[in-house]
Amino acid sequence: MGIVLGCIADDFTGATDLAALLARSGLPVSLRIGVPSEERNNSDPTTFEVIALKSRTAPVREAVEQARQAFSWLKEAGATRFFWKYCSTFDSTADGNIGPVAEMLMSEIGAEQTIYCPAFPENGRSVFMGHLFVGEQLLSESPMKDHPLTPMRDPSLLRLLEPQVQGKVALASRPVVSKGPEALKARLRSLAEGDVRHVIVDAVDNDDLRSIAAATADMPLLTGGSAVAGQLPRFYIEQGFISSLATAPAVTAPRGGQLVLSGSCSAMTRRQVAYYAQRSASFRLDPIALASEGVGAARTWLQRQSPDAPKLIFATAEPAEVRQAQEKLGLERASQVVEQALAELAREALRLGIRRFVAAGGETSGAITQALGIMRLVIGPEIAPGVPWTFADIEGERVALALKSGNFGKESFFEEAFERLEAE
Ligand code: ADP
Repeated sequence: MGIVLGCIADDFTGATDLAALLARSGLPVSLRIGVPSEERNNSDPTTFEVIALKSRTAPVREAVEQARQAFSWLKEAGATRFFWKYCSTFDSTADGNIGPVAEMLMSEIGAEQTIYCPAFPENGRSVFMGHLFVGEQLLSESPMKDHPLTPMRDPSLLRLLEPQVQGKVALASRPVVSKGPEALKARLRSLAEGDVRHVIVDAVDNDDLRSIAAATADMPLLTGGSAVAGQLPRFYIEQGFISSLATAPAVTAPRGGQLVLSGSCSAMTRRQVAYYAQRSASFRLDPIALASEGVGAARTWLQRQSPDAPKLIFATAEPAEVRQAQEKLGLERASQVVEQALAELAREALRLGIRRFVAAGGETSGAITQALGIMRLVIGPEIAPGVPWTFADIEGERVALALKSGNFGKESFFEEAFERLEAE
């Protein structure tokens, strides 16, 4: 069977998040790291293909070009419906890249209209009257206002999207969405008659998301967070887009040793590291020491640990410490030494027989996955909303990886992750 939905995600942990929510359907989901160089195998039973890009903060032209290549590959592989996945906090720069990529995809596909639905109620992201909330706070009053790369200082999705696109932008608000799919369809039609191509859609709970999915499942392009995508499979089945119910093949989880590698400095990761450091052996990486002395001390520490014992290597630090490292080394070099160190330690861990990895941080996950030479991941069981275990084969050895974006999971996430895998 061909691909039912071709998905393009603008970052790495965002792609695993989307893949996890699609995989809740039990249908096979495949996740590729970057645009594959080879064609898709026709006998591949995968229903959903997700391509992970690293384009969230790239210059607009580069982000659009990456997405165009991903689109071409998916189309070539047989996809006729597409999903453009970005963060549930609508992370973007002043120029993009959410709007420009959406407009490029609309023009390639010949779509007259698309929707923008970042809401992820299970993780506290909701949209009401076009305004994005994180928990009970407006986006612009949440910690996202201080994000180092994409500070979000305006909670209005209309105002954020308008300067990013050429076509007209309008809202389908909660009072319409809560009336159900027919009311939403009628609103979308009337907006289309007024030449509105970009429709922000409110959603505050999963019932809203179900209505939105029901109303839009036959649109060739949808855009948003993972949560609305997670509602699509059952409508695809109902509407007959999915004919044979291939189920995801069971993957046996690897048994080898375990390691947590954390390069995220987000508020939730800081709590998770503090919690886990009390329950495991831990080693702290200091970017300033790494820059002058290299990764040798951490490597020796790792070699002395028993592969099976719980252990943690982290660069995770409070904002003041991060600033200090950035002032001393420069912003780019500070992240680079940390990412490089974690990547090298991941390779060393693999050599030492460690087969179960948890990586915390989007950029960090990208660096580790690349270092391990992984091109494709199979999606396994979900640990927390939007964070699945994933599996890959590296030179014939099966490895399990959980890639967690900064703000996902509870305080005990690392511990829960390994418990979840034991249960497999
Ligand atoms: P998140 O998902 O929380 O945004 P990322 O891994 O995407 O996490 O980003 C965190 C960035 O901060 C990485 O580039 C990482 O290398 C860098 N970093 C981690 N620890 C430190 C530190 N102590 N000082 C400076 N930069 C750091």
